[in-house]
Amino acid sequence: MSFKFRFLGTGTSVGVPQIGCSCPVCTSSDPRDKRRRCGAYVSSDEGAFLIDTPPEMREACIQYGIDKVDAVLLTHAHIDHVAGFDDVRRFNTINGTRVDCDPDSPGAFGRVSRIIGKPMNCYALPETIDAMHRIFPYISAKGGTNGLYRPQIEFVDNSKPFVVCGLMVETVRVEHGFPCCGYIISDGLKRLAYISDCHDICEAEIERLKGVDVMVLNCLREREHATHLSLARALCFLEKISPKKAYLTHMCHDFTHTQWLTKLPIGIEPGYDGLEELL
Ligand SMILES: [Zn+2]
Ligand SMILES: [Zn+2]
Ligand SMILES: [Zn+2]
Repeated sequence: MSFKFRFLGTGTSVGVPQIGCSCPVCTSSDPRDKRRRCGAYVSSDEGAFLIDTPPEMREACIQYGIDKVDAVLLTHAHIDHVAGFDDVRRFNTINGTRVDCDPDSPGAFGRVSRIIGKPMNCYALPETIDAMHRIFPYISAKGGTNGLYRPQIEFVDNSKPFVVCGLMVETVRVEHGFPCCGYIISDGLKRLAYISDCHDICEAEIERLKGVDVMVLNCLREREHATHLSLARALCFLEKISPKKAYLTHMCHDFTHTQWLTKLPIGIEPGYDGLEELL
């Protein structure tokens, strides 16, 4: 079984363009220089899932015609990766079942049928699950009551490997100054790894990433940063991992897509919003 990966966003936490910035990147007319906050969409013959729910997730789903999501995988609970989580409720409804109801019953307001949403699994580190309960205290597997429209989510600890939409998923622990992980996704033939936020990856995790077909790795800018990879550090990790192909993500406004291309060796490219990769 093959699978598809799509970038929903490739920008750093403030997005590109940044609010109130008139630099050449923020004012570029190249659509590849519009970088929403980081997220991704993975689909197989058996379904589809989101990696993170950034603030512009809804807009990205509408732009790319995404109308099917069966699960969510979270990397961490920084707000640029989870602020769009509430919009998952639309997919609970889309996946739900229509049932008849008495038009005179309380809350029916004359309707003869209504949709019972289908709960969805959200896989995350235990620390991320705790944070999600703090940020979104109203979210549960049951959703809302009395007409309140809330996401129906079953949080699942991602510490052990799991299968979602027929794909095998393993968590990769990374250093980001905050509990954070990446993922290795495989259909048994091809492997894609996604690490959107880190400043370091330990040797044991590098070993697990070695030789992946596609590696998506964060690279904020050329200069060093305390919690993100600089270009030199990202290239150093990519050399060790030696993927067949690599894409950079979580980029700031220092370079246009075209400028990034001139800085990267063959086989490594900047990602851009909407870019799709078939594995
Ligand atoms: Zn981030
Ligand atoms: Zn700018
Ligand atoms: Zn982060």
